[in-house]
Amino acid sequence: MSDLPRKEFDFAVVGGGLVGMAIAWGIAGRGRKVVVLDGGDLDFRASRGNFALVWVQSKGAGMPEYGSWTLQSSQLWPQLASALNEQTGLDVCFSKPGGLHLLLSDREMENRACALKRLHNQPGMEALEYEMLDHSVLEKMLPQIGPEVAGASFCPQDGHVNALRLLRALHVAFGRLGGEYRSNHLVQRIESRRGEFSLSTADGVVTAEKLVLAAGLGNFRLAPMVGLNAPVRPQRGQIIITEKVAPFVSYVVHTIRQTDEGGIMISDSVEEAEYDASVGTEVLSVMAARAVRMFPLLARLNVVRCWAALRVMPQDGFPIYDQSQSCPGAFIATCHSGVTLAANHALVLPALIDAGALPSKELQAFSTQRFDVPAAH
Ligand SMILES: Cc1cc2nc3c(=O)[nH]c(=O)nc-3n(C[C@H](O)[C@H](O)[C@H](O)COP(=O)(O)OP(=O)(O)OC[C@H]3O[C@@H](n4cnc5c(N)ncnc54)[C@H](O)[C@@H]3O)c2cc1C
Repeated sequence: MSDLPRKEFDFAVVGGGLVGMAIAWGIAGRGRKVVVLDGGDLDFRASRGNFALVWVQSKGAGMPEYGSWTLQSSQLWPQLASALNEQTGLDVCFSKPGGLHLLLSDREMENRACALKRLHNQPGMEALEYEMLDHSVLEKMLPQIGPEVAGASFCPQDGHVNALRLLRALHVAFGRLGGEYRSNHLVQRIESRRGEFSLSTADGVVTAEKLVLAAGLGNFRLAPMVGLNAPVRPQRGQIIITEKVAPFVSYVVHTIRQTDEGGIMISDSVEEAEYDASVGTEVLSVMAARAVRMFPLLARLNVVRCWAALRVMPQDGFPIYDQSQSCPGAFIATCHSGVTLAANHALVLPALIDAGALPSKELQAFSTQRFDVPAAH
């Protein structure tokens, strides 16, 4: 018999946001004993401040595999929503009415049409249904659009969800499977020794046979502790929420969506602001002005809340999934678009991680090896 002490857990997942919880739920569903070690309320947490789109159109420029991966997740989303509903009774309000990217001038129409054509002309890009719509066609779909709207691109695969309820449902479902969630357990140090990972927190050491780093922006610091590389940076986005109104946006608009509760969310900012998550009227007023040009009736609504949150943005914008070569059993999963990709993270990745099969052939493009480019001399 081995004289090694028994590890407490089969898997430790670091990070209890959408990425960590989706994977933890999937692994726990495979009968593994899983602990999630998460930070606290003062951390940067994209999962609590996002725009909640399940967005497919325009994904994959520069990496067609990302287009396919995104499409696959959108197709798996109904399965995720119903599994969570069955296990928790919570409705995450997933719907796929199709998405519109509204454009405010002929110039914007032209640029958008070219960008989508370039995307779909890439070798290896999976065919995705989309079309460019002019004002008159669009007006029949969205009668409330303003006269300045020149048209839109439309993709029937786009949808949205209630992202906070999704996070809650994942937590509840994980708990029902016997998973253990520990809040305020920031992992400070990770050591790998004799087939076991020791994770040091202020509350003591946790041991596990395998490890998944899903700590969002925290992955940047943690990954090198197990021989991985996670070049992620913060990218700020600001969001405006209006009072609740009767339904009038029956499709998902890229920057404006009506939640299941009736409020309008406006999100149109992408800012390089390092770790500054403050809101600013300069950006908010530009977002609001553009939204009112799209839907003039928005000018009559009261704004009830605004916030800023930091995206977890990989260096090249694409997801990172890998297993450490020097510390086998240590995995990393991090990405922007963790709402869209939640179905893949919950229903596809766990089996690969559990089998130690990352990087798989299918996910090779997302390996950290793509960052190992020798410097030019
Ligand atoms: C403004 C905005 C709009 C967005 N809109 C969309 C959208 O419409 N659709 C979409 O698909 N995506 C969207 N996103 C992106 C999406 O929210 C993220 O991809 C997703 O939430 C990332 O989840 P995560 O679990 O990786 O990170 P996070 O939610 O940031 O969670 C990371 C967790 O790790 C914990 N942690 C960090 N360090 C440690 C440590 N050392 N030890 C233990 N725990 C640690 C933190 O406490 C945190 O809970 C948006 C993001 C923003 C900011």
